[in-house]
Amino acid sequence: MTISQDLFQRALDSIPGGVNSPVRAFNGVGGTPLFITKAQGAYTYDADGNQYIDYVGSWGPMIMGHNHPTIKQAVLNAVENGLSYGAPTETEILMAEKVKALVPSIEKVRMVSSGTEATMSAIRLARGFTGRDKILKFEGCYHGHADSLLVKAGSGALTMGVPNSPGIPADFAQHTLTVSFNSLDEVKAIFAKYANDIACVIVEPVAGNMNCIPPVEGFLEGLRTVCDQYKSVLIFDEVMTGFRVALGGAQQYYNITPDLTCLGKVIGGGMPVGAFGGKKEIMDFIAPVGPVYQAGTLSGNPIAMAAGLAALELLATPDLHDELEAKSQRLCEGFEQAAKEAGIALTTNYAGGMYGFFFTEAEKVTSYQQATECDIERFKRFFHLMLEEGVYLAPSAFEAGFVSTMHGDEEIEQTIAAAKRVFAKL
Ligand code: PLP
Repeated sequence: MTISQDLFQRALDSIPGGVNSPVRAFNGVGGTPLFITKAQGAYTYDADGNQYIDYVGSWGPMIMGHNHPTIKQAVLNAVENGLSYGAPTETEILMAEKVKALVPSIEKVRMVSSGTEATMSAIRLARGFTGRDKILKFEGCYHGHADSLLVKAGSGALTMGVPNSPGIPADFAQHTLTVSFNSLDEVKAIFAKYANDIACVIVEPVAGNMNCIPPVEGFLEGLRTVCDQYKSVLIFDEVMTGFRVALGGAQQYYNITPDLTCLGKVIGGGMPVGAFGGKKEIMDFIAPVGPVYQAGTLSGNPIAMAAGLAALELLATPDLHDELEAKSQRLCEGFEQAAKEAGIALTTNYAGGMYGFFFTEAEKVTSYQQATECDIERFKRFFHLMLEEGVYLAPSAFEAGFVSTMHGDEEIEQTIAAAKRVFAKL
């Protein structure tokens, strides 16, 4: 038995499923999870002393690589002054100003402690602002685990086969309407039916929780038009895409302006941080200025703000996101070429620093249906053989992969070489 296997057995006794977040349990690929002891740059290390090139990056935050010295130092400096005050600090203003400068559609922003809190609060705000109950989301998109949003959800909910989680009263779920991602026709049809009942549309502008599916041309533009027409709030859930697809997020990459934006992952530099922000007139609807209640004991925590601010400052480097996208592209092209040589059907998608690959005969994957029809068994074998090669991919066929600034040519080429050897065995 490996040390990781031993730790997992122990964990099962005290933690449900041995993990504190479901996808970590490896249910999507079989086997037992690795227990990580440290991470540095592009690499993670497990309890058995193995080293892996890491494409999970803590599920997105580690865009500057693990344990970046500047972020680490910012945390250490902040810790010197205390861990939490529950009162305002100047760092929160600096953070808000930085977010506004990088994401111009955000005129005011509220900090929270996770992506789930960000989307949950944004939905409540949109409902309060419009006085409407219904929300529209897309099948296979994941927006965290708040009740209204765990309907036809992606990520772990999809991996575990529970996209509609038990525990959510039907009375709540009936207010969540769902249509197919990338289908503007379905969006128009549902708006025609519910006209003035839909408070908001929430979308991952690049879907990253059913593998990686970018928007087809015209989809996001169409959402903007429909929301304007019906006076519905357009919410971009940029928890994954924010500061990753481009410095200004997917809204900059695709040049579409949402009313509200949800942020998480990268914004915390590895600490628990989320945020939601947008138009002043909507944001001023939350307490203490407005009637919609939202709060948090640890919101704007000084250590978390210091880490996040340091990460955002590092990211605002010219060409950094072009270089990230070039890495995603090289990885995708390398995988496709290697698969082709081995006679394996594979296609890829990428946008900025996120990517996905699909075992399918389809030329391009643009829908939830296509993503779920891929050869999942082949993915599982691929995952484990890559792990043996020292490459740590997301342990589910329904998650996007992430590159960081620390993934150099050497790591990318090593990964492609490993994939070549693995494809030959599949
Ligand atoms: N929204 C998106 C697009 C996400 O990918 C996630 C998490 O993966 C969330 C929301 C929820 O964020 P958190 O896990 O920080 O609650």
